[in-house]
Amino acid sequence: MNYIFENVTKNVFVLAVWDSSWNSYNNCYFIVEDHGVTVIDSGKLQHAKYVEDALHSIGKSVDDVALFIATHGHEDHVQAATLFSNAKKFIHLNEKEMIEYPDPEQFHYELPDQGIFRDFDCQLVGYHTPGSVIFYHRPTQVLFTGDFLCFFGDPLSAGGLVSEGKELREAWLDYLKDGGVAKEHLPAFLEGLKTIQSFESIAMCTGHGGVLVGDSKEFVSELLMVGTEKWIQQ
Ligand SMILES: [Zn+2]
Ligand SMILES: [Zn+2]
Repeated sequence: MNYIFENVTKNVFVLAVWDSSWNSYNNCYFIVEDHGVTVIDSGKLQHAKYVEDALHSIGKSVDDVALFIATHGHEDHVQAATLFSNAKKFIHLNEKEMIEYPDPEQFHYELPDQGIFRDFDCQLVGYHTPGSVIFYHRPTQVLFTGDFLCFFGDPLSAGGLVSEGKELREAWLDYLKDGGVAKEHLPAFLEGLKTIQSFESIAMCTGHGGVLVGDSKEFVSELLMVGTEKWIQQ
């Protein structure tokens, strides 16, 4: 099995492609609505076939994608966006110089640092990359965190790709306790967590591996507590 494709909610789908060279799942997401398909993060170009297959399996094609938004400019989030020739594509301006994409001119750079963008709340977090953005999709209450908060290289939870992910939450807390977020990045990280905390989300879609459903407020509170302790200690 090269990938897992399943529902997060009724009309939000996750495609998690196993990337053996990175030993990680790389995730992308589809929101299927009457007015078209929105894709959040595209995967690498070498995995484009899986994006096409996944769309076909729900009766859609790459031509149905009307909107593409990237959480940031790393190759595993933008490269395969080249598939969506009918889509308007957006990424934060701070990513323009470092975008790992065949044709940066295909992108529009008008995402707000903080505010409404179409059906999304958009928040620049600036942790992981300078233009990393978190998106909250209001109609579905689904949150997209990109690599700001992800499970790169982690095995899936025993509950599956989309689950409460108890072990994953614990692993992230341990990572933070062990200094996984460097001191200079802690302020941006903590601010980003506060933003996440402010949304009433029913699912947290991350850039790699586990998609967390169920109550994420407690998890984010714990992260905030540990992160704040770390900041004070150092
Ligand atoms: Zn990244
Ligand atoms: Zn990534």
